[in-house]
Amino acid sequence: MRKSIAAACVFAVTACVSAVTIFGHASPQAPAQAPLSASGVIKKAETALGGDRLMAAKSLRIEGWGQDALQNGGGNASPSPDAPQRWDNDMNYEETIDLANHRVRVKQRSAAWLPAATMSRVIGNVVTTAVLDGDVPYNVTPQGARRANANAAEGLRVDMLTYPASLVRMALDSATTVDNARTEGHWQLVDIHPKEGPRVTLATDRDGLPVWVRWMENNGVLRDLTMQRWFTGYEPINGVMMPTGFKTVSDFRNTIENQLYVTRNSVDVPTDDLAAPSDVKSAAAPPPPPAITVEATPVAKGIWIMHGRGENSILIEFADHLALFELATSNEWAQAVIDKAKTVVPGKPVTQDIVSHHHFDHAGGIRQAIANGLTVIAVRGNDVMFRDVAARKSSLVPDDLSKNPKPLKFIPVDDHMTLKDSTMEIQLYHIIGYEHMTEGLMAYEPADRLLIEGDLFDVTWQNYPWGNVYADNIKLRNLDVAQDVPVHGMAMPWKDVYQSIQTKIAGTKALCAGPMGPLLPECEVMR
Ligand SMILES: [Zn+2]
Repeated sequence: MRKSIAAACVFAVTACVSAVTIFGHASPQAPAQAPLSASGVIKKAETALGGDRLMAAKSLRIEGWGQDALQNGGGNASPSPDAPQRWDNDMNYEETIDLANHRVRVKQRSAAWLPAATMSRVIGNVVTTAVLDGDVPYNVTPQGARRANANAAEGLRVDMLTYPASLVRMALDSATTVDNARTEGHWQLVDIHPKEGPRVTLATDRDGLPVWVRWMENNGVLRDLTMQRWFTGYEPINGVMMPTGFKTVSDFRNTIENQLYVTRNSVDVPTDDLAAPSDVKSAAAPPPPPAITVEATPVAKGIWIMHGRGENSILIEFADHLALFELATSNEWAQAVIDKAKTVVPGKPVTQDIVSHHHFDHAGGIRQAIANGLTVIAVRGNDVMFRDVAARKSSLVPDDLSKNPKPLKFIPVDDHMTLKDSTMEIQLYHIIGYEHMTEGLMAYEPADRLLIEGDLFDVTWQNYPWGNVYADNIKLRNLDVAQDVPVHGMAMPWKDVYQSIQTKIAGTKALCAGPMGPLLPECEVMR
């Protein structure tokens, strides 16, 4: 519902008249409107958004706060589709669109709204300022401006393309094609093909105002990911209609990817010059990440840490086959690890992927594991998530699973399970009482007293809000651990890990006892 019909009447008679009539706009009894041509839909949207005033506006500013889904919905405590959503809070969000010069800047400060391991995320001092000037993306930090990569450009371009005023102006640009006008219920839909950026479908209401936009992007884990961004609560600002509410929903489990609550809209207020500085413009675009190389470091007989890019995988040699603990972040990493495993132990097939938990920085290679025919072993319930990820389409950037579909082969672990043959024994245990991941497992290799784990410990973490969950689980299972073999970091003696955790717990308790304590989730109930 409009904030102020009277105010709308001031700047546009058409908006005023239709604003009165659209009180019944959601009514299914409302008669269907005559279909418009594609250009007719855009023309009507232009008028509804402010007409000449929209076309004359030089800049827009949107300020507010909001929330982003963690890992596109893959970072919740449980892999269940009914698990409550975990969020990052955007404590401050400011988007400035320089319509005249095709530039956009997004400044935000985000904070993890969950007990997290990285202190900067917990206390909310992760500040980013990202700018796109035509084809030149750059980031601004206290150290200065630096050219950013093509992904940054794409993200900012999407921000501009999915904002009503800038989208409709873009649609009116001669370089843009608009077609496929159709109706859906009482909405008019058109497809907009900008010169750069994804194709966008726009839906407008009876009044001509944009209701939502829909577009598709390639996601490393979820592949073809369709996003739908809804606009609500339009208000007239200096003659231009601007939404006060944004909600973006993806087609992966209908995850709410993002919501933004606008607290101030502005048109043609003084803005900084968003032009890229000359040294940024002339700088080469950052090179793509180098090809993945996997190093294999032996930990014990038949056990190797496979490392080389962030997360580790752990290779385990059985008498007649190989297993990998974790194929973490991506298809590319997963394939590189599988290939490397075959050279470390020639002649034995890689047949198993043991997954600590479903988070996408741990199970991001699940599609590649399935494509390689591996049997996935994880705590019961993770299979629901893995099936959902495996069922995704991958048309924008086809991957091996989409080219050669295979079913998920899954062995569930309930409380515990032992994988044992003549040369190797691995005990798998459901981790109890760990709210970071409720369906997680750890692996124990008794011959060398190794505890193989993901997300129970990382030496680089500054914050540890989970108390003695790691030690408690070792005690619960009566394990005699000598060494921690982690997915994050490098192998360390258990006594050093235990000491490090005590230091981190003390730091977290000090933070919670300080002035920020009552403002942080869980601080007041921390064990
Ligand atoms: Zn995790």
